Amino acid sequence: MPHPGDKVKLLTKQETVEGILMPSPKKDIVMLKLATGYNVGFPSKEVKKIELVEKSKLLPVSLKQVKPRKNLPAIAILHTGGTIASKVDYQTGGVSASFKAEDLLKMFPEIEQIANIHTAHVANMMSEDLRFSHYQIIAAAIETEIANKVDGIIIGHGTDTLAQTSTALAFMLENLPIPVILVGAQRSTDRGSSDAGVNLICAAEFIAKTDFTGVAICMHGSSSDTFCNIYPPTKTRKFHTSRRDAFQAVNDDLIATVDYNTRHIHFHQAYTKKSHVSGVLQLKDNFEDKVAVVRVYPNMFPVLIDALTKEHYKGLVLEGTGIGHAPTNIAENFSNYEALQKFINNGGIVVLTSQCIFGRVNLDVYANGRRLKEIGVISGSDMLTETAYLKLAWLLGNYPKEKVEELLPLNLKGEIKERLAFTEEILKK
Ligand code: GLU
Repeated sequence: MPHPGDKVKLLTKQETVEGILMPSPKKDIVMLKLATGYNVGFPSKEVKKIELVEKSKLLPVSLKQVKPRKNLPAIAILHTGGTIASKVDYQTGGVSASFKAEDLLKMFPEIEQIANIHTAHVANMMSEDLRFSHYQIIAAAIETEIANKVDGIIIGHGTDTLAQTSTALAFMLENLPIPVILVGAQRSTDRGSSDAGVNLICAAEFIAKTDFTGVAICMHGSSSDTFCNIYPPTKTRKFHTSRRDAFQAVNDDLIATVDYNTRHIHFHQAYTKKSHVSGVLQLKDNFEDKVAVVRVYPNMFPVLIDALTKEHYKGLVLEGTGIGHAPTNIAENFSNYEALQKFINNGGIVVLTSQCIFGRVNLDVYANGRRLKEIGVISGSDMLTETAYLKLAWLLGNYPKEKVEELLPLNLKGEIKERLAFTEEILKK
């Protein structure tokens, strides 16, 4: 007899439907969650048969205590929440972060063939709720694991702001001696199409088989379970709400690709090896709270910038248009220009990024860009807006203003690339 959570085939007179059996709110209704994510109710009297297709993956699986094996590396899996730590809540039909870290091992015992795994619970939240204080907790947990002499760390994380956490960690952790790989999932683990297992296994293989060190992201590289990409921590973005291959590197190459079937690993660019790191791990984990992002838009008024000036904000990332512009050039928009000038005169720093996403800001090309430069607006170069925001907040949290201005245009953690081979070649033509 199938139980809630099991995958079943339901037969009525008219149709055969496959889905996950859900606890029904009423006795005379059989509820199924379809692959599309929708819940559908069938009157019990119309149901001729319910066949079991697959037992629920979430039922407790007895896991034999695996003794640490000497020839395998040690990997810590730190849990922070997100879909990778979620299952369908049969009360609400929604997905909520509800697992313990060791549940993942029960579901994907194969990981224990790759490494000696130890798990720890750092948080259990959706990533849109993360604050700087959570970055500090995650960084402290990484520091503890490194002191415990693990060979690598996997961080299970919600995908929405996964790339922001990887950026923050890249800035916070100096002389990181081991790989720290952030892994998420677009589909929760109780769905047949979940990407959690493949992403975790590829991350574990990458840690076990390479000498890479630093922060990176491991997510599906295609919509099928064929390979995962290892993405650079400060130049990656989530581009799709639901596809499993939602992430893309922006203005950068991938670090590597892990073939899920053959487990072959191919590097796409030079990377930092464990042997390159000589100093001791240093944690610089302060952030300035008074930093904001404003995206420019047609018919913009200076109200947002003025409010930030009034609140003594120290940093502003202005997401401008094109190669580096903002609505500041005609009489109706002079008030925006004046607002920026006021923000800067009050001691604030303004970094300009582009809504184009790909390419580089250049404030020297047009007169309009030069006018922004004249009042002290700093080019965000080829940085993503999210990256510029975290860099500015991190710099302001750890350095005096003059040093922040000196470091902003420099590449610290791969966030600024000297040459954008493809994009800039095209611009020259
Ligand atoms: N919004 C949630 C988060 O980012 C769920 C999305 C996901 O994990 O893919 O944590």
